[in-house]
Amino acid sequence: MKVYLAREVGFCFGVKRAINMTRQALAEHNDVSILGDVVHNRTVTSELEARGLKKVNDLEDVRGGTMVIRAHGLPLQRIQEAHDRGLRIVDATCPIVTQAQEAAIELERRGCQVVIIGDKNHAEIKGVVGNLRNPALVVDSVEELHEAELDKRLLRKVGVIFQTTHSFELCSSIVSELIQMAKEVQVINTICRPVRNRQMDAVELAEKVDIMIVVGSRSSANTIELKHLCLKYNSNTIHVENADELDMAQFAAIEEVGIASGLSTPPETVESVKRRLVIWDQNRSTAPQPERNPAGPAAFAVLN
Ligand code: SF4
Repeated sequence: MKVYLAREVGFCFGVKRAINMTRQALAEHNDVSILGDVVHNRTVTSELEARGLKKVNDLEDVRGGTMVIRAHGLPLQRIQEAHDRGLRIVDATCPIVTQAQEAAIELERRGCQVVIIGDKNHAEIKGVVGNLRNPALVVDSVEELHEAELDKRLLRKVGVIFQTTHSFELCSSIVSELIQMAKEVQVINTICRPVRNRQMDAVELAEKVDIMIVVGSRSSANTIELKHLCLKYNSNTIHVENADELDMAQFAAIEEVGIASGLSTPPETVESVKRRLVIWDQNRSTAPQPERNPAGPAAFAVLN
């Protein structure tokens, strides 16, 4: 069995940067907290919590000390509140997320209704929406866009940005509907380049292998997106969080396996998935074969 890894697996630079900044804050200060998870991955969050990181769900719960802003960012107003409460801020917002926030502000400045293609419950989108003066329209499907038009929530001059981890295919399908509805559509492509590269690599790999494995947390939006994308090109795509979740019976008749990962999946987790497959394959090829009947299979035995 051949096992292929996608060209890039493990953390993207934005996630690596946020983890390193959090580790550094923990090394330098005693009382470090974070609103939500630094990234959507349990292995990473458990490691940081073991070093002393306190996860809180509300700014009100932070009594003092240092607060890390995670890679997805926070609305400016929340950051200001944290400053006002006297907290030391470590801003680990990914620079690409900051660019998306700035793009939305720029579109609003140009007089557009800001339309965000993304998940309204995702922290990154809440951060973008929270930085605008006027309410933004957030849609995540062509159907949601049609509903907004029917409810007259869609204005005539719109400016569009995308959730950084969204797939290009989904975003372009919504934009092509939108240009038939609005009079003027301005688009700033805020899809993150590392995400796009990974999606293209994963698709290329999914097309050529017998089974495709996507490794990453079930709470990670980009991992789920990657799984759905791979499923389109290879119906034999499975999603696991770690090597323990592999069901080896699925690989009995498989010759080629592809592995891709979400952007918040630790490289060690991807490596352990690969290692488990390789070791399992070596063991089965060196395992003693059942003795053959010299007379051949029973079905062909000559009966006197
Ligand atoms: S996926 Fe892109 S935008 Fe998100 S943290 Fe990674 S590099 Fe930044």
